[in-house]
Amino acid sequence: MKKILVIPGDGIGLEVVPAAVEVIEALGLKIEFIDANAGDGVKKKTGDALPIEVLEMVEDSDAILFGAAGESAADVILPLRREIDSFVNVRPAKAYPGVNALQPNTDLVILRENSEGVYTGIESRVSEEMATLTRVITKTASSRLAEYACEYVKDQGLDKFTIAHKDNVMRITDGLFRKTVESVASGNGVKTESAIMDALAMLMVMYPEKYQVIVCPNLAGDVLSDLAAGLVGGLGLLPSSNIGPNCALFEPVHGTAPDIAGKGVANPIATILSTCMMLEYIGYGEEAARVRLISEQTLSEGKTTPDLGGKENTRGVAAEIISKL
Ligand code: ATP
Repeated sequence: MKKILVIPGDGIGLEVVPAAVEVIEALGLKIEFIDANAGDGVKKKTGDALPIEVLEMVEDSDAILFGAAGESAADVILPLRREIDSFVNVRPAKAYPGVNALQPNTDLVILRENSEGVYTGIESRVSEEMATLTRVITKTASSRLAEYACEYVKDQGLDKFTIAHKDNVMRITDGLFRKTVESVASGNGVKTESAIMDALAMLMVMYPEKYQVIVCPNLAGDVLSDLAAGLVGGLGLLPSSNIGPNCALFEPVHGTAPDIAGKGVANPIATILSTCMMLEYIGYGEEAARVRLISEQTLSEGKTTPDLGGKENTRGVAAEIISKL
């Protein structure tokens, strides 16, 4: 029996996560879902956005399914990623048939460094006038990411990945990142192509079909994956995984979407596709492929939520997928 810790969070997380869980439950697998929560709502009640009891439940879990957290996001998702020692955030962006994508040829994956960069929280207010932030890049984290990227491209039958960086400006930090990733790739017989991240943002918009796997530092990965979301039809479609050595956390790329929260119309596909990544991770690859295929079919039939021009609500999309399963 696999144990999945379910943390819906706030906003539309409270709508899309239960919808995705319903889909997985319909498969009748040996999975136990353990309910917990974290985020703004929990902070209001307990004073703590991520209670220690929830953090302690991580140790007993095979994987975590997370929705989104509001203002307290940094106090929830960063400690959770740290708890599982997550070193890579995998963010696929694919344009699906039937979805009005800006760039229908997009089918790429962003492998984002997940533990350092500008997310280490080393910020200070030096004076009334000045504030600073320390950006951390280590050889260890860059190597772990690169090793994962090499395995990933080989699994996909590819032989190269693109390294996004800005070592023309951040010469020492991104210099270390780029050199480390290149050296690990070359040791693994994988080719790399180097791309300055701002120019890459433009090229991804113009020629997304040229990119399959993009490996980048933390903040660049965050920004480029939202850009990729724009290419394929919006944030409602992008799943992600945060991989650690013994556990992984799966979550949609989107946040709490306060503008539509509570209306029951959030697109659950990003979260359902995140659970597909989770099923693969815990050894249910065939079932993951089935749910993915049916989700794509549902999209192509136009049975979608309003963000994609459809008339369905969150539960309606989940019910459609379940009926097809
Ligand atoms: P947060 O501060 O939690 O990140 P946000 O509104 O700044 O929230 P997102 O939640 O990522 O950022 O959403 C950005 C916009 O994308 C929202 O305004 C919403 O309209 C749209 N959006 C995001 N996710 C979905 C979804 N699952 N279904 C439909 N629309 C979505």
